[in-house]
Amino acid sequence: MTELIIGRESGVENPRLSVTFNGQTVFVGPPGSVSKDVSRKHCKITIDNDKISIEDLTNNNFTYVNGSDCKKKSDIRIQDNVELGPSRYHLDLETIIKAATSKQAYSIKHLKAVYDNYQQAKFDMQVKQGKLNALSALPGVLSMTSIGIAVFLPNARFIMIIVAALFALAFALIRYINASKVPLKSREIEESFREKYVCPNPACKHFLGFTPYNELMKNRSCPYCRSKFSE
Ligand SMILES: [Zn+2]
Repeated sequence: MTELIIGRESGVENPRLSVTFNGQTVFVGPPGSVSKDVSRKHCKITIDNDKISIEDLTNNNFTYVNGSDCKKKSDIRIQDNVELGPSRYHLDLETIIKAATSKQAYSIKHLKAVYDNYQQAKFDMQVKQGKLNALSALPGVLSMTSIGIAVFLPNARFIMIIVAALFALAFALIRYINASKVPLKSREIEESFREKYVCPNPACKHFLGFTPYNELMKNRSCPYCRSKFSE
């Protein structure tokens, strides 16, 4: 969750917009672009997993969303028209969220385990597939053995032929069931990876692709929103 305090730059003749988060402040726009009827702490914007909400922090300098003044509004969209104060300073949400998040470094430490688990799961699938392939030779061997025994023990011939047939049938069934499970499981593994291996910036959350964790740490930034990554 990221909280941004939006207001007017203090202590200057020609104020800009100030955006404060995590104890640091960035200024947006040219000097003098914000009028004095925007308060120093005018409103608070909270970003929580792509959900943006806004809260007016003033008593009588209104905050407007799409034309109507509100004390608090959740689930606002980045395209909504947000205006501050009687002179209706237009707040460009996209610029502000970008300005705030671009300065922030996001830890991607947790993504190492996500990437390693994905690689391990993929490897396990390959091993399983290899075992299934090895298994496919088995029914033939067992059938031949049964038939061999049947030749030497004529009295057991009928039973051995049935045993051979049952072996063949059982293995065909096992292979059939597993063959349909393997692609399903592979898809599950990939879907879960796509869900978790994402940029930690709540305003981005873009899937980081199949780029190994080490590569991400080398580049140290999100290729989509340019947020900095740290360990
Ligand atoms: Zn990003």
